[in-house]
Amino acid sequence: MSMMRLIRANTSSCFLLSTTARTFSTSSASASASAAAIEAERSIKEGGRNNWSRDEIKSVYDSPILDLLFHAAQVHRHAHNFREVQQCTLLSVKTGGCSEDCAYCPQSSRYNTGVKSQKLLSKDAVLEAALKAKEAGSTRFCMGAAWRDTVGRKTNFKQILEYVKEIRGMGMEVCCTLGMIEKQQAEELKEAGLTAYNHNLDTSREYYPNIITTRSYDERLETLKHVREAGINVCSGGIIGLGEAEDDRVGLLHTLATLPTHPESVPINALLAMKGTPLEEQKPVEVWEMIRMIASARITMPKAMVRLSAGRVKFTIPEQALCFLAGANSIFTGDKLLTTPNNDFDADQQMFKLLGLIPKAPDFSNDAKGKDFEAENCEVAVSN
Ligand code: SF4
Repeated sequence: MSMMRLIRANTSSCFLLSTTARTFSTSSASASASAAAIEAERSIKEGGRNNWSRDEIKSVYDSPILDLLFHAAQVHRHAHNFREVQQCTLLSVKTGGCSEDCAYCPQSSRYNTGVKSQKLLSKDAVLEAALKAKEAGSTRFCMGAAWRDTVGRKTNFKQILEYVKEIRGMGMEVCCTLGMIEKQQAEELKEAGLTAYNHNLDTSREYYPNIITTRSYDERLETLKHVREAGINVCSGGIIGLGEAEDDRVGLLHTLATLPTHPESVPINALLAMKGTPLEEQKPVEVWEMIRMIASARITMPKAMVRLSAGRVKFTIPEQALCFLAGANSIFTGDKLLTTPNNDFDADQQMFKLLGLIPKAPDFSNDAKGKDFEAENCEVAVSN
């Protein structure tokens, strides 16, 4: 072959190669250009936003699962130290006998679940539990009371304020979940040193009446408004596995991600179907459903602490690892979550070691926030 013919032959094979390469890169680019990829890139470049349309969130949620997982992991690494996981301990300080009809809850007095109504735990019992949690590595202590609201519970509420002060004084973040609260109560909790208030939206606005009839979605948002106005961090998420459609999961994420300020914590719970409740026959949530929810929450609310909450006990360590990869960076530790079982403490410590996770230090930066924080914006949340 002459030199000229050789060059021509090589040029042509190079052309073929480069054409093949371009074809390959074009198809790989289009394969990766899912809504998850596009929105993750946008979240990384521009930060969180609260003008999401429901369709946009649906497109993220519907992205191919491995792509969703991959891009959520990118957002997670951009917005957080991916090794840090917050450890919270949740104690039921007042168990059972609740007047509400939440269909998943064994503490409702309307269902025959065997959970007995108890009085508010004493100060000694609560502080002892908080100390134990702190010694075990928890940085946030959350107190839950099975109440519809705190109106008319002046004595108990005063006691709770005292518990908050004491636990905050122990160098822990303090969270409460006491049902609906008024503006005045939120301010008193803030004054006592409360870090965060938990009040979940549970599900979408449309599906909500199938789960709770004794308080409205707007009442829930009203409580979140009071919490936000008082300058307390908002902890609000939901539960999957209630019999809702995937569109309801998208609806829940849409409500949370379009609040004027994203919740600082977003717990994602998988239903633990409890005997005696109307949802006792629900089938268990699969880990892929949790991953899809967590990853979508991570992309749409990049800065939030996304908590792998109730139901974690059903997942193996490799399954939990996928949830952490998808963007979960908070868990409940301790053997009970209110009245439902939770993971063994030692097993959690081993999991941290195995996965190279480290406990997140407490954050008190919110202490300086004033009570007028975002007050005007919160109006929008309630009227949505
Ligand atoms: S979830 Fe809370 S408000 Fe609903 S029944 Fe249970 S304790 Fe009561």
